[in-house]
Amino acid sequence: MATLIDGKAIAAKVRSEVARDVAAMKAKGGGVPGLAVMRIGEDPASKIYVTSKRKVAAELGFHAVEVHLPEDVSQQVALERLHALNADASIHGILVQLPVPKHIDSDALLAALRPEKDADGLHAVNAGLLAQGREATLPCTPWGVMRMLQEIGFEPAGKRAVVVGRSILVGRPMALMLVNASATVTICHRKSNLQEEVPRGELVVAAAGAPELVKGAWIRPGAVVIDVGMNRLPDGRLVGDVEFAAAAQRASAITPVPGGVGPMTIAMLMKNTLANAQRLAARAG
Ligand code: NAP
Repeated sequence: MATLIDGKAIAAKVRSEVARDVAAMKAKGGGVPGLAVMRIGEDPASKIYVTSKRKVAAELGFHAVEVHLPEDVSQQVALERLHALNADASIHGILVQLPVPKHIDSDALLAALRPEKDADGLHAVNAGLLAQGREATLPCTPWGVMRMLQEIGFEPAGKRAVVVGRSILVGRPMALMLVNASATVTICHRKSNLQEEVPRGELVVAAAGAPELVKGAWIRPGAVVIDVGMNRLPDGRLVGDVEFAAAAQRASAITPVPGGVGPMTIAMLMKNTLANAQRLAARAG
């Protein structure tokens, strides 16, 4: 049986590191990190996510604000609000909660962020820096996966990694972070033969948004399995992208859903905002 990777415990450790650094920043008279989350419209899941982000930020001693705009807000007004956050010296991390309503161009919103204030690593400048293997603000979820791997003592260098999914939010940056860590990486998508590719992975990261897509029988014995997927079934159950019970019979370590990658994402958002605040302060001072 695989060891369970406890995302809640690792996320708590990351949050305590952030709280310690915020206290040190404050003691030096450096102010506190400021996080602004822009939410447009009434997507119920977004409302829950934004509430928990604000709650964690407040617990860690951040200045946290939510900019909530109505469903029918114009692109122009949303951009103006973003420009105001870019110019606000008390804000160091800005996150645009996705999805946004259909008439809003989310790419244009992300492009309007100051890359130094990007809290989610989705600005093209940060994505480009990551692609070039340079220091960048990293997307929170895959960065959280890297931290989990570090915590369990999995060294990616020289290992074969299979990433299922190629979104800009998870799959793509995940693959790049693993390449930068010297793994040999296969990126899979809908045209891939998963049954052929997944068994090659000494590490499998599933980020497809398809319930139990990755079959337990495909897992190479001893592999580490990270399940990013969060899928709500019609009966209300939350399952990942991996067939958990069967995969756990073969893997050496596996993340549960829930309680695996999920808690890491918010913790890494706080770490990004803190790092932005430290860099902006160093530049100003
Ligand atoms: P996304 O933008 O929908 O991308 C899904 C990717 O998976 C696409 O590249 C798609 O391939 C691929 N894919 C989908 N179905 C597939 C299939 N049957 N076979 C092979 N590849 C398939 O999703 P995302 O934003 O990356 O999110 C992925 C999952 O992670 C979702 O369940 C989401 O809820 C979860 N998530 C969790 C967290 C967290 O904090 N735990 C954070 C973010 C996302 P194509 O490119 O060919 O379409």
